[in-house]
Amino acid sequence: MKPTIEFRKDIVSGDWVLISTDIQKKPVFFKRIKTKPFPKSRCPFETIQQSKDRWVHVFPNKYPVVARSNICPPLEKCGIHEKKIGVGFQEVVVTRSHERHFALMTRDEICLVLEAYQSRYQALASEPCVDYILIIHNHGSRAGATVPHPHSQVFAIPIIPPDVKRSLEGSHNYFRAHRRCVHCDILKDELKEKERTIYQNKRFVVLAPYASRVSYEVRIFPKFHESRFEVIDQAQRKDLSDAMSFVFQRIFKKNKNPDYNFFIHTAPPKERHAEHYHWHMEILPRAAIWGGLELGAGIDVVKISPEETAKLLRR
Ligand SMILES: [Zn+2]
Ligand SMILES: [Zn+2]
Repeated sequence: MKPTIEFRKDIVSGDWVLISTDIQKKPVFFKRIKTKPFPKSRCPFETIQQSKDRWVHVFPNKYPVVARSNICPPLEKCGIHEKKIGVGFQEVVVTRSHERHFALMTRDEICLVLEAYQSRYQALASEPCVDYILIIHNHGSRAGATVPHPHSQVFAIPIIPPDVKRSLEGSHNYFRAHRRCVHCDILKDELKEKERTIYQNKRFVVLAPYASRVSYEVRIFPKFHESRFEVIDQAQRKDLSDAMSFVFQRIFKKNKNPDYNFFIHTAPPKERHAEHYHWHMEILPRAAIWGGLELGAGIDVVKISPEETAKLLRR
């Protein structure tokens, strides 16, 4: 593949990234830092799990970053700044096996995790001051996981996170200009070109985004327009777990079990005018270490092009 050096604009967020693959020798990605394996005997999730016959357990995070409360914090002035007290809910979704992460789970097991995400999402959405619910999964210590036992987190917070806000605004602006969903347009284009698509089934498509922010970034989209993750039905869950199983297995094998984060971007629960939004899942392997260009200018330098990523993971 010909080397690529170009700035790419993400039409949803408006952010520029630099795709630069013209390097003599590719850096070694995903080289594991040698650490002593965390023994299962000391795993906090082994004792906490009461029922051994259930695949998924949900409980409040023991060390939350938000204060558990259903009181709506008012917007406060702090000099020229504004603030809100950090209330919210932080729950942990734990799967039974200490060793089997997403690449090693069956499709049915992934389906059960998705069901748990949805049911917690729906429960927390009814809390009075919850403005956004973020579902995240950290795999590996470099991705921020403090416990190696596979677990996801559900954060319910009284603000719309900046990345989500920008994604919503970008989608809304595109809709106002074209009267169409930006992600539906992207999918139409990607499915025609097939250069960056990795996998598809009846209801979902996996692709390497045109303006990827990190090497090997992957996103999973529902093929048919849907604003909200929490309303997907059993058939959609099945196809989504199928897509997830495929992509996590590929990432695991091709990239030698890299650390990664994934999260779901969906319309905020109380937002009434979010029909333009198209929910999706973003998977970001942790490879690059940020330098000055990233931190000082907010321009991500991506050394493996999205086209190469798609080619590698498709094979
Ligand atoms: Zn464990
Ligand atoms: Zn759409």
